[in-house]
Amino acid sequence: MSTQKFQIPDWAYEFHGHPCPFMPIGYRMGTTAMQKLGVKRSKNHEMHVLSEMGVGHPQGCMQDGIMAATGATFGKGMLEKLHYGKVAATFWYPGKGAVRIFLKNDFQDKLSPHEFFAYRKKGVEPSEIPVAVSRDIIDIVLRASESELFDIEMLPGFVYRPVKGSFAKAKCEVCGEYTFERYLRIKDNKKVCISCSGQEPAEHVFYHPVTENE
Ligand SMILES: [Zn+2]
Ligand SMILES: [Zn+2]
Repeated sequence: MSTQKFQIPDWAYEFHGHPCPFMPIGYRMGTTAMQKLGVKRSKNHEMHVLSEMGVGHPQGCMQDGIMAATGATFGKGMLEKLHYGKVAATFWYPGKGAVRIFLKNDFQDKLSPHEFFAYRKKGVEPSEIPVAVSRDIIDIVLRASESELFDIEMLPGFVYRPVKGSFAKAKCEVCGEYTFERYLRIKDNKKVCISCSGQEPAEHVFYHPVTENE
């Protein structure tokens, strides 16, 4: 247990929109990842994050903290969700390697009886929870030591092949809208967009991470 309180910039809370424990957990996760990989916050397309979050659980707030800390944002295409339903993420930085960070079961168990989640289970949104309650649970996160929070595993065999950026586009032969070529499909001998093809998008075909050597 550390006495030092971790600092998170105010803009990260403003960006996220409400005070909650999981944005700060993600911010700390991203900070730890940068330290372990020996890198600074990404300005462009450096850090890649594979979040193990899924949908339908509130811990997803973690991802806003990860983006704020690392600069690996959804908009830049640097954060991908694996939908494993775990409070964990793998961080990969070209030339520096990869690290997986998991929020320890014990810490998840420590947080869950907190009054904050009693409000959440009653359907109260985080911004409507009394400030003293949210401040208290955030303090638990900010005062915890790194080893109390995270299981950290360096992944020396991690290989990741990000999709190559391309500006190539063509018009869908049904609706006429410009579509980036990777997303054009063939239907009745026509190049068509996914909406016009009736097919499901297949994002993960391009972003599938591969781990080699063990
Ligand atoms: Zn939140
Ligand atoms: Zn179309």
